[in-house]
Amino acid sequence: MRKILVLGGTTEAGELCARLAGDDRLSTVTSLAGLTRLPRATAGPVRRGGFGGPQGLASLLVNDGYDALVDATHPFAAQIAAHAVEAAETARVPRVKLLRPSFPRRSDARVIDVESMQGAADALPRGARIFLAAGRRELAAFRARPDLSCVLRMIEPPAPGEVLVDWTIILGRPAATAQMELELLRAHDIGFVVAKDSGGPAYAKIVAARTAGIPTVMIRRPPPPSGPIVSDVDGVLAWIEANLFAENPDGNIERSS
Ligand code: NAP
Repeated sequence: MRKILVLGGTTEAGELCARLAGDDRLSTVTSLAGLTRLPRATAGPVRRGGFGGPQGLASLLVNDGYDALVDATHPFAAQIAAHAVEAAETARVPRVKLLRPSFPRRSDARVIDVESMQGAADALPRGARIFLAAGRRELAAFRARPDLSCVLRMIEPPAPGEVLVDWTIILGRPAATAQMELELLRAHDIGFVVAKDSGGPAYAKIVAARTAGIPTVMIRRPPPPSGPIVSDVDGVLAWIEANLFAENPDGNIERSS
């Protein structure tokens, strides 16, 4: 039996664990940061909370006898991705990054590229009415712009002081279709969409903005981690076969020395 640790919290991580659960050669544990009080259901055992940095993760990989580490965290979760690289090298455990593709770009879309949440706030004209989907820890640059009129979608409700009193809060995940997102943008008379280039399920919002002719202020991704990268769940499954079950499983494994 081979043991895999999946760093999760994304749609793809959930799908991956559901597919790995049917493989009796494997035992899979999902790790969640533990910040979301209402995480999606995950197949198989789950552990929650940070590791205490790369050394903590490396120790867990060694002490609990893991054979592989799959980093299926969000494209903007740069810190845990860097920690995964360092920990896997220290523990000499093979690792792969599952990184979903960026949002497709179309020439008829009005896109303003920026580097950060702060860059997005700086790019918005005075008094703009914006739609923003973001977590509680990403709002500082927008709180500092009281002239903006903000419709904010978030999974977790904000704590007191985290949002400005005149913001409209929508609790929930991305809508299933571009039509639903378009209705939302129109109902709230949105002038700008602010989006992280996360790829994946939030694409409906990008399509809706393009359809409505609304500019999207697009926050660029952080650089990807070093080492092997696959773009979907099938890619992870193929990587697992090649690295854990092929005749020469060390063939594709990166070693620190
Ligand atoms: P992060 O900044 O890369 O990680 C911060 C710390 O959280 C890590 O150092 C680690 O703590 C812990 N951590 C993160 N993922 C973990 C996991 N799967 N298991 C155990 N510990 C984990 O990542 P983040 O704070 O999760 O998020 C950063 C960005 O990603 C934000 O932009 C956020 O919106 C986005 N994000 C989006 C989604 C989504 O589904 N929409 C999900 C997650 C993140 P230790 O150092 O103590 O090990």
